Amino acid sequence: MKSAAAFDAITRVLDGLTRRSPFYREKYDGLDLDLVSDWESFERLPFTEKADLRDAYPLGLAAVPEEEIVRIHSSSGTTGTPIIIPYTAGDVEDWAIQFARCYELAGVTNLDRIHVTPGYGLWTAGIGFQAGAERIGAMVIPMGPGNTDKQIQMMIDLKSTVLCATSSYALLLAEEIEKRGVGDKIHLRKGIIGSERWGEKMRRRIADELGVQLYDIYGLTEIYGPGIGISCDHECGMHYWDDYVYFEIVDQHTGEQVPEGEIGELVVTTLRKQGAPLVRYRTHDLTRFMPGECACGSRYPRIDTILGRTDDMVKVKGVNIFPAQIDECLREVEGASSEFQIMIDHLEGKDVMTVFFEALEGKHREGVEAAVRQKIKDKIGLTIVPMAVTVGELPRSEKKTPRVFDNRY
Ligand code: ZN
Repeated sequence: MKSAAAFDAITRVLDGLTRRSPFYREKYDGLDLDLVSDWESFERLPFTEKADLRDAYPLGLAAVPEEEIVRIHSSSGTTGTPIIIPYTAGDVEDWAIQFARCYELAGVTNLDRIHVTPGYGLWTAGIGFQAGAERIGAMVIPMGPGNTDKQIQMMIDLKSTVLCATSSYALLLAEEIEKRGVGDKIHLRKGIIGSERWGEKMRRRIADELGVQLYDIYGLTEIYGPGIGISCDHECGMHYWDDYVYFEIVDQHTGEQVPEGEIGELVVTTLRKQGAPLVRYRTHDLTRFMPGECACGSRYPRIDTILGRTDDMVKVKGVNIFPAQIDECLREVEGASSEFQIMIDHLEGKDVMTVFFEALEGKHREGVEAAVRQKIKDKIGLTIVPMAVTVGELPRSEKKTPRVFDNRY
């Protein structure tokens, strides 16, 4: 959100940036950052793209001397060169401060026992959940991912009260706990779930089966990691720490600011990061600013929970589709579960979209399939091929699960 304080903070970031950062010296070659004197000139600065960060591999993003770098993290990119982000001691501390705020907003205290299942290592997740928890004085159980038997055993024996996980792993644990009939031995009261797009049905299943209140936590490796924002008890978007990050929401095609409250791509400028400051970084996450004050009383502004990724959008028979829309349709069909995958093929000169979804037991499959086809036709205007499968048949994983398989290219 634009304010005089935000602009002052941005001015401090830009001051001397091209001197400190060889990356920005090259990127902004020919631009005089001293001429950035108002919002308009700031919004004309070129975006920083993921590909730019990749080109800086391995340590080209560093904006401080070697002796000030205490750690690196790397994005979990599945293809090509990874992105390496260097952190100073101050960056590591700032990240923990923000993460501690997240826990506090979620009502987590030093009496909680925090079960951390996201991975440790190059990925930012595990260590971020841990550092924030230690900062508020809670007890960390640093599980990391995998080994479901041990996860559940430790959860029971140590009486874990807070589960940190991706949504798909939280769902897997919830299903395993139900299958084993040990729900009454679980002491969880809150779930802090790494932000990926997840539907209302999935949320309700995790919350009901684990008996927890859920919070969406936001962040990305390029900008500290998870912890730069979180939802509160009122579940109306995610508060973010505007003293650490400046958010813009732009039209993904034109790059222009969208009107207040409209959906667009989130663009982030770091306000305090020293090791690898980023200016106008395109996240490819789709969201919108939430208007007004939150009922929780927090003064921090909010964005909506992530509605999708710009690269998730696929065009089928001339219609733009987000996985989130399919999720919404499934939510409205009785007998359809929250898990789904989309497959797009080009057959005999035509696009064919198949939607695989899990049908609840005891429902007439053909009937549910017909209802899903009709719902998607009505709401999105596209005729699809519905394919019901048994609950548990679609993959759940500890990492993010791809939902769209486009076989056309
Ligand atoms: Zn709130």
